Amino acid sequence: MSINPVAVSDRVSLEVDIACVGFGPAMGGFLTTLARGLLSPDGTPAVESAAMPGLPPQVVCYERADDLGFGVSGVVTRARGIRESFPDLDANQIPLATGVTVEQVVYLLDPIGASRRSPTLRAADAVLRGLGRLLGVRHHALPLPWIPPFLSKHGGLVMSLGQFNQWVASQLMTTGAVQLWPATPVSAPLIEDGRVVGVRLADQGVDKKGHPDAGYMPGMDIRAALTVVGDGPVGAVGQQLDAHFGMPDEHHQRDWAVGMKMVVDLPPDCALQAGTVLHTLGYPEPEIFGFLYVYPDNVASLGIFVPSWFDSPVRTAYRYMQHWMQHPYLWKHLSAASLRSWGAKSLQESGWRGEPYLAGDGYARIGEGSAVPTCSRVRAWTRPGPRARSWVKRCLSC
Ligand SMILES: Cc1cc2nc3c(=O)[nH]c(=O)nc-3n(C[C@H](O)[C@H](O)[C@H](O)COP(=O)(O)OP(=O)(O)OC[C@H]3O[C@@H](n4cnc5c(N)ncnc54)[C@H](O)[C@@H]3O)c2cc1C
Repeated sequence: MSINPVAVSDRVSLEVDIACVGFGPAMGGFLTTLARGLLSPDGTPAVESAAMPGLPPQVVCYERADDLGFGVSGVVTRARGIRESFPDLDANQIPLATGVTVEQVVYLLDPIGASRRSPTLRAADAVLRGLGRLLGVRHHALPLPWIPPFLSKHGGLVMSLGQFNQWVASQLMTTGAVQLWPATPVSAPLIEDGRVVGVRLADQGVDKKGHPDAGYMPGMDIRAALTVVGDGPVGAVGQQLDAHFGMPDEHHQRDWAVGMKMVVDLPPDCALQAGTVLHTLGYPEPEIFGFLYVYPDNVASLGIFVPSWFDSPVRTAYRYMQHWMQHPYLWKHLSAASLRSWGAKSLQESGWRGEPYLAGDGYARIGEGSAVPTCSRVRAWTRPGPRARSWVKRCLSC
């Protein structure tokens, strides 16, 4: 096949006002607030573009995934930030969203002797089993009589993050104030003289090693006065910024958790009602946390977190999830369920120490790549350390 390579000098450059990387919930929130500021009450542009005078401000967001709402993503949230971004929020407008109705934290005993429990935990388990029904142990599980504050989502929402992102994207697109480009990965920040001046989009039509192949097209250079990076917990663009500018003193990003999750259709006679939020601990290993959230129409999202402080895992995260979901306490609901989809996502777990420079010349960082995610809050709670109090304080305020 003859290939007509395009010289790199043919790389096209485009001037915009604000270039954004990644369309996750953080970027959705940022763009929603920004779009409001860019429009007059009558919906006309409130300011003019500096990059393209005579036009409204050019705000362009690039998302690498084929869709603006993708992934296997069930979440429960107090929705404070969401309600701030959408003061008139009607959760019924968001597919698969519903209010939290039932919350339970459950300690799972090991029903088959598969987990590596310390002698102390084994002794505690034996006591629990001995006192059994008196304490409320059923199906090898003890529902806790209280919910730790950071897990309490009373008044919050259960929803699919993918559906939510799609909903936010549709709201944004109707404003006409921002452009959203799915299936458009960013390969690198453009840095000149210590200033971020935009981003370079990934080259198209390259072979596995990145060399030009059939249909080669160099990615455009998008030059912008401001670049906003919200590319998630392990974003390549954020990592390149960290490599170039370094991290604040004593800060580092080196702890990540893995979340394995699936979405299922529960059987029609399932006893779990929409809005149910179950969190589990204790099994398949004491370090592994589980969650099960029930959406409307008998759809549920469930999965586990395998934290970074979990030493020497002996099974894959996928296998751990299968052990977890087959625990009798959960399996009674799930054995007749059918799988819709499954997947994995990482979580930034470096906490405050993982906070990079949040803003610099020409750029800003937002979202999980910029600070503390859920699992770190769990870590603070389970492993109190010198910073635990501030972690918990922060999580209580979210
Ligand atoms: C198993 C699991 C369960 C969770 N449960 C909850 C929960 O119950 N409640 C809760 O509040 N949070 C929960 N979270 C955390 C929540 O998912 C994250 O905090 C949230 O998604 C972070 O949002 P973000 O916008 O910063 O990043 P992300 O959601 O990761 O979005 C980043 C986006 O950037 C895109 N991107 C990355 N690199 C590029 C590039 N080079 N070019 C273009 N686009 C790019 C990605 O494709 C992605 O769409 C959970 C996470 C996991 C893994």
